[in-house]
Amino acid sequence: MSTTIYLDNSATTPLCPEALTAMMQAMGHYGNPSSLHSLGQEAHTLLNRARAQVGAALGVKAVKPNELIFTSCGTEASALAIYGTVYAKPRRFGNRIITTDCEHPSVEEAMKKLEADGFEVVRIPTKHGVLDTEAAIAALNEPTLLVSMMMVNNETGAHFDVARVFAAAKANDSRTVTHCDAVQGFLKVPFTPAGIHADLVTISAHKIHGPKGVGALYIHPDIVKTKRITAYLTGGGQESGLRSGTENVIGICGFGAAARAGFATRAADCAKMTVLRDRLEGKLRDMGVQMNIPAGNRAPHILNLTLPSIKSQTMLNYLSAQGICISSGSACSSHSVKISPSLAAFGLSAHEADCSLRVSLSAQNTEDEVDALCEALGKGIENLVRIRR
Ligand code: PLP
Repeated sequence: MSTTIYLDNSATTPLCPEALTAMMQAMGHYGNPSSLHSLGQEAHTLLNRARAQVGAALGVKAVKPNELIFTSCGTEASALAIYGTVYAKPRRFGNRIITTDCEHPSVEEAMKKLEADGFEVVRIPTKHGVLDTEAAIAALNEPTLLVSMMMVNNETGAHFDVARVFAAAKANDSRTVTHCDAVQGFLKVPFTPAGIHADLVTISAHKIHGPKGVGALYIHPDIVKTKRITAYLTGGGQESGLRSGTENVIGICGFGAAARAGFATRAADCAKMTVLRDRLEGKLRDMGVQMNIPAGNRAPHILNLTLPSIKSQTMLNYLSAQGICISSGSACSSHSVKISPSLAAFGLSAHEADCSLRVSLSAQNTEDEVDALCEALGKGIENLVRIRR
């Protein structure tokens, strides 16, 4: 039996049994969902069942095929949202895009590319994990093509009030498109696309105990009707013409099952994660560890901390040797030597960010695991500080 303690659930989550079963069943259906014969139609039925399951978990009743587009991951869903909006023809108006200063690289790198292409990108501060909504609303004073803001920060767990900004954007000019990267918020904080005034919402299967390599973009019907989104992956016209390429039927079925299971248990799961996080926080506080807790709302599954002058990579290796998996920041950027922009935006110095760790929980974790982490961290701090002396 493995003794690994997995506390890196913001990087990815273990597959849930429901997703595994659905994927095993889907493996028996090898038809192409675009084929008109019976095997193709079987696969098509599986796709639409998964679409309904994911739509229901998002709070969208009777979701239509062009309202939920399956993609290869959250990154691709955000790329479709961002490039699909700004390159839609005719571009409605304006050249301005509003985002935050702590977006995941899947959004931030797209923003840099658009800046190079001549778009004006305004990044709203998120100091201490609080979105400056007044600054965002003030930035809407110019015609704004797109507002793209994350719901929950993947490194600090800060839960941003995107609804307020999106509502203001829509009240200002209903043509402005609103996009939310909800990869870390989906099934962790309650929301619906309509409730947050989002036209577009990105989600990803592997953060909710589904498989890797599947994501989805929710699209409000008005956006499709008014042609304010265009495909950036063109070809055979799958996914209502908005994302060509034969669908990953097996992965999508896993996504649907994970979304259905996660939706059913979300309240209990979030309550459990909150208890575990609070226990962890209490113990770390007693140990005198600096915690980077958002000053506003927060999601239940993420805790960021800064060690006393021990580089996070050193502690990460120390814990990993003992079978404890945590992260030194977003896994997507853990091989980069750059200081995390999210932590810099939070207000940490370069040195503090370099000594910061992220613990991220799922409802499958236990109090014993949290206690084991604290014990190992305590010993690690003692040993590693002594070595440095
Ligand atoms: N957005 C956020 C906030 C994330 O945390 C991640 C992954 O860590 C992504 C987007 C990218 O999702 P995916 O790995 O499915 O491309």
